[in-house]
Amino acid sequence: MAKSKERYSADSILKKFSNNNVTLVLTEKDIVTKKDDIDEYGVFGLGSSYFKTTVISLFRLKRNASPQLLKERLQKVCIHEIGHYLGLSHCTKNSKCLMSAGHGTIKQVDQEELIFCENCKKLADAYNN
Ligand SMILES: [Zn+2]
Ligand SMILES: [Zn+2]
Repeated sequence: MAKSKERYSADSILKKFSNNNVTLVLTEKDIVTKKDDIDEYGVFGLGSSYFKTTVISLFRLKRNASPQLLKERLQKVCIHEIGHYLGLSHCTKNSKCLMSAGHGTIKQVDQEELIFCENCKKLADAYNN
């Protein structure tokens, strides 16, 4: 096992696990991506419809979480990433929507509900019909 301080590139993981099937990679390592001018921006998950792959890290979700809370966070992040896979961008209409830009803080994830807002539902339907 690597040291917990080590950070892994989420983008490299997506490339590495990319295949012809839709794939979800779950890791306990801390994962980072490039965001604006920050080279190592820590994220809960990263999805790419191009690679058909999503990676989710338990590393940040586990912080101060009971097993029940961890489960809720994991569900939210999984569905958020699936939303990206379905073509959705971040939602600005409803702060409780799962597609809010929750990558920032765990507080945001915790205040979200397990739903897409009406607007995102419509968009997802439109993209996938
Ligand atoms: Zn996102
Ligand atoms: Zn929404």
